[in-house]
Amino acid sequence: MVMPRTAVLCHGERMSLFQFSRNDNPAPRKRLTPIVSVGATDQITATILSESVWGLDTHWWRGSTVPHDQTPGQCAYCIEKAPMKWRGFLYAFLRGRNELAFIELTDFAFQRLRKEAEGRETLRGLIIGLHRERKTVKAPVVIAIVGEEPAGKTLPKSRTPEETLKRLWKLPG
Ligand SMILES: [Zn+2]
Repeated sequence: MVMPRTAVLCHGERMSLFQFSRNDNPAPRKRLTPIVSVGATDQITATILSESVWGLDTHWWRGSTVPHDQTPGQCAYCIEKAPMKWRGFLYAFLRGRNELAFIELTDFAFQRLRKEAEGRETLRGLIIGLHRERKTVKAPVVIAIVGEEPAGKTLPKSRTPEETLKRLWKLPG
């Protein structure tokens, strides 16, 4: 950003450009927790931190997931007839990447996980493996429980993706 010269003079001191731009910028916002989907060749192993899958209706619009507004008649994407897709999110620790993230699930992957976890009270602490049936993002996700964290192990707190999605979609807080 180019600042008018007078602004510098007003400070009554010499500032390097670096200082100036640093002082001029607002404090960096907290880093967004990433949302990850299973890539064509990904082999993800993750510890689930959510108790259950958090899901919502979204639209698929020009190659990305966008929010669906539930207020009748208000959703711009419904008006555009963009296909509606349910999306589920699991807060998880990605073991290979050493990273906390939300794993995005299609309804199909969610149904598979539900079947896998049948009879369990919570998903928290389960270790899952995810990959594509074939090496293309169009292939269904294979999701399997491959282990479980030992009882009593301290795990990071569970979180929902609302804050991340609101910031991603630039919705009012
Ligand atoms: Zn809609």
